Amino acid sequence: SPVTVADFGVQAVVSARLFSAFPEIPLVAEEDATALRDPDNRGTLQKVVEHVKKLVPESDESAILRDLDAGTHTGGATERYWALDPIDGTKGFLRGDQYAIALGLIDSGRVVLGVLCCPNLVSPHGRGCLFSAVRGGGATSSSLTGNKLQPIQVAAVDNLAGSVFCESVEGRHTKHDQAARIAEYLGVTAEPIRIDSQCKYAAIARGDATVYLRLPTSMDYEEKIWDHAAGCIIVEEAGGVVTDSLGQSLNFSLGRTLKGNTGVVATNGGFHDEVIEAVQRVLCTDEK
Ligand code: AMP
Ligand code: MG
Repeated sequence: SPVTVADFGVQAVVSARLFSAFPEIPLVAEEDATALRDPDNRGTLQKVVEHVKKLVPESDESAILRDLDAGTHTGGATERYWALDPIDGTKGFLRGDQYAIALGLIDSGRVVLGVLCCPNLVSPHGRGCLFSAVRGGGATSSSLTGNKLQPIQVAAVDNLAGSVFCESVEGRHTKHDQAARIAEYLGVTAEPIRIDSQCKYAAIARGDATVYLRLPTSMDYEEKIWDHAAGCIIVEEAGGVVTDSLGQSLNFSLGRTLKGNTGVVATNGGFHDEVIEAVQRVLCTDEK
């Protein structure tokens, strides 16, 4: 998958800020500095350093490489750690579409805090939305600078046929054809909304869509914790439900991946069991 100056740069900025405020909390992040240490990538490293220094003036090349490499924590069940995706939906970012900066805090295998920065997502207040949720404290959206803070809730739709599905733009990240058959089985007629990144979770959390399907494309792909931690708590705290395609809770306690789960299903909660039943019906029919 493509990795840009922005992926490294954002991770370097966010990790520098996190380590300075919370030196004791380790970080599970998507990138590390291996590629940047390759002399062939000297130009990329220079660009990363140049951009990071604009936001973290005290930073330098060695601090940036050190902070990037500190994102290799293994995760797990006991400790408290951050899960960071510096640019989730890199393909959307490169196309000028949706992408997100996603940060979750996981404590004893449970996501307790999530922040999603969606610079291209539009709200009535303009372009760029910041979503956050604290376990038990609800979910909010605001402008990117934190103004216009307001609580958000999933859509109140409780008839399945009135659902609006959302899914990945990339056909390699989910099965579009199976999702279409699930929608048909449930009597859903609206066209699915295709969005890159965890902006899909935001779309469910603020009520733009009611069902997010991420259907497994292969048996060996393990979803990454940084691709789901922030989005998952934001949907749950907005009143929705998030499970895998079998209806099991997402298990964040197994390391850097959700190796105990297959696929993801997030809904507004009104008819989650019926959606899982339909997902299973279509997936099982295709396996036969
Ligand atoms: P999205 O923008 O929702 O399509 O998802 C982007 C994320 O998909 C990236 O951050 C990758 O980590 C992840 N990804 C890469 N390959 C796969 C795959 N085969 N199945 C599901 N997700 C994937
Ligand atoms: Mg990602």
